[in-house]
Amino acid sequence: MPTRIYRPIHVGTLASGTGLLLPVHEIKGDRPGPTVGISAGIHGEEATGVEIVYRFLHTVELNGLAGRLLVMPVANPFSYAAVSRGTPIDMMNLNRVFPGNAGGHLTEQMAHKIVEGFLRSLDVYVDLHSGGSTPTVDYVYIINAEELSRAFGSRLLYRPKETLNGTSISVTRGLNIRSVVVELGGGRVDQSAYVSRGIAGLLNILRTLDVLPGPVSPPPAQVVLREIVTLRPHHGGLLLPEVTEMGGEVRGGQVLGRVVSPYSMEELEVIRCPFERGVVVLTHLAPSVVEPGIYGFMIGNLATAEA
Ligand SMILES: [Zn+2]
Repeated sequence: MPTRIYRPIHVGTLASGTGLLLPVHEIKGDRPGPTVGISAGIHGEEATGVEIVYRFLHTVELNGLAGRLLVMPVANPFSYAAVSRGTPIDMMNLNRVFPGNAGGHLTEQMAHKIVEGFLRSLDVYVDLHSGGSTPTVDYVYIINAEELSRAFGSRLLYRPKETLNGTSISVTRGLNIRSVVVELGGGRVDQSAYVSRGIAGLLNILRTLDVLPGPVSPPPAQVVLREIVTLRPHHGGLLLPEVTEMGGEVRGGQVLGRVVSPYSMEELEVIRCPFERGVVVLTHLAPSVVEPGIYGFMIGNLATAEA
């Protein structure tokens, strides 16, 4: 039987007198094997990943586990509690400050502790993100472990030219840790289908690694994107989406959504597909109040995608 130990990382003491702990669950298997790390909530407003981890640990049978799992369900508890992308205390984005700084701002201190107390000990790393409070997203990055990225089972994959500086993945990639970044769910819609897919995806990655017993599910037909554009509105107001099919194809110039003013009743902005043949990677599935500069839509370019 695998054993589970709660091993939080101690960061420091808050002004309120409470200790700042970053949660880590260690599950040790009966057989030798790799250390697989799973994190969620690096961006606290992306609560779907946190729920996936919670339900994964409560529903998946871990008997027969090889090696160990290190699970960090809420990497930034401050931003999770505040449902914000950044840490309210210093307004920093945890996933832009890795590898952190032991003598830096609070978020940088947290990143440093996560590197030393979690990331460094991994052989494989899966980081769960989602779309946040209003947008919904659905793709998986190919970083340095294509088979594992594919095994998660999403239809759209993305092979970026370079890794964004300051991300947890920039650290694990540098350490040659096989890494997968999942973007799944979010937005003002029921998350249960995304949560189910997240649990199944994690399980299939662990089976692919032979860390858990059981049959590996072959992935569906997948498209590997090389180019994704993020379309951020220039005006705030009410965003009325016109494409609400995740993974659906869109044509050049097609209207993706409109930002309107609920004050003056004017149409402030029309957001269109910039590619001749695009695919919806991130959209708003429901009308949403937005500020300028948010993640409005993300469109993949099918013309440059891998067959
Ligand atoms: Zn994120």
